[in-house]
Amino acid sequence: MTIPDVRAYPEAATPTVPGVPAAPAVPAAQSSPPRGRGGFDPETARRDIPVLHRTVNGHSLVWLDNGATTQKPRQVIEALGAYYSAANSNIHRGAHTMAREATETYEAGRQAVADLLGAGTPDSIVFTRGTTEAINLVAQSWGRANIGPGDEILVPVLEHHSDIVPWQMLAKEKRARLVPVPLLPDGSIDQEAFAHLLSFRTQLVAISHASNVLGTVPPVREMTALAHRYGARVLIDGAQAVAHFPVDVQELDADFYVFSGHKLFAPTGIGALYAKPEVLAGMAPWQGGGNMIDQVDFAGSTYAPVPHRLEAGTGHISGVAGLLAAIDWLTGFDRNAVAAYENGLLAYAEQALSALPGLRILGSAPGKIAVLTFTLAGHDPVEIAHWLDRDGIAVRAGHHCAQPSLRHYGVESAARASLALYNTAEEVDQLVASLRRLQEEPPGARAARQP
Ligand SMILES: *Cc1c(COP(=O)(O)O)cnc(C)c1O
Repeated sequence: MTIPDVRAYPEAATPTVPGVPAAPAVPAAQSSPPRGRGGFDPETARRDIPVLHRTVNGHSLVWLDNGATTQKPRQVIEALGAYYSAANSNIHRGAHTMAREATETYEAGRQAVADLLGAGTPDSIVFTRGTTEAINLVAQSWGRANIGPGDEILVPVLEHHSDIVPWQMLAKEKRARLVPVPLLPDGSIDQEAFAHLLSFRTQLVAISHASNVLGTVPPVREMTALAHRYGARVLIDGAQAVAHFPVDVQELDADFYVFSGHKLFAPTGIGALYAKPEVLAGMAPWQGGGNMIDQVDFAGSTYAPVPHRLEAGTGHISGVAGLLAAIDWLTGFDRNAVAAYENGLLAYAEQALSALPGLRILGSAPGKIAVLTFTLAGHDPVEIAHWLDRDGIAVRAGHHCAQPSLRHYGVESAARASLALYNTAEEVDQLVASLRRLQEEPPGARAARQP
């Protein structure tokens, strides 16, 4: 019997998913939006994503909540099905064909992550549930061994709660200090303040490669080089970055780099930590269990080499099969062309949204990713999200797990449209048109609409 290779998928002309209606025809654009010139056409990505062809509240879905999670190509969905239909087995410890095949899939996934990040060796990749777990792993394993009383951990104000709270917990436990690095008015990190805050007390700098609220892409390579002069380690949170532009951890000289599969078109529950081989080699286990040991005896146990030492218990094997398919899918596009397309779409969206009276975009750092967090005078962000949802448009409203970023702008809550490679200028037009209708709604209609 032959086992289907979970990386090989039949080429279908149009995606057909049972029960999901075909996409309605997209109307022609009115203005002169980006059309995907120069090597990337968003329609080629859209064709692969079944959920983009459903309707929500009678309208074709406009998914602008990619900062929270991305939609999945059929290649990923099929990889999960193929794994469970024909290849399900635990890994590493089995002495049979399917155990070997599952192990091969798992390790091919590790290699794919290493390639995606420019990691050099797959042994520098640890699978985790996602970004949050990867950061907690570093805090619990590396942090507990290397952070002591009086030490400092520098964290820019724009970080996600996942890149603040684990360090806060560690600092409390070790009587170390968590030091916020301030932002400039445009949402970029104040580099002068950063340089002043660094000292020989700094043990760790934890920075987003791209902010999920402000879109800011900090100069992480320069910041890392500066931190290294003080002997500090640098963790880069790539949760938003990986889906938007190519990453090279060796070129960045990152000590740690973390991301989540589900923001990279892969399933939830799988993500990864990259750590420099020499740093990883010194990291003690943070969870005990199967798969991470060498010998177990009641007198004491010895542990497996990294990365397995940091992966206790059965991993998310089907998730890795899905992640492998997602990486294959994304890297099948010309990534620089994708980034150029997204930048064009961001510029188009910024211009279109700015034309709405009372609309304020939070975050305008040069080179930001396609994230548009905004407030609209007279309208609560949750009301905005509910209104847009009636038109089939999904945006996030709230604090976006980054309260300090919003407080920098004096607000506690905002709406956010976050774009991916499969979004189009027509969808931006629909967002703007819906917001305009909200603004033009007579006061009586608004009162009647509210619950
Ligand atoms: C989403 C996100 C996280 C947390 O990711 P999880 O998948 O919830 O673990 C951390 N940092 C940033 C910048 C994010 O966007």
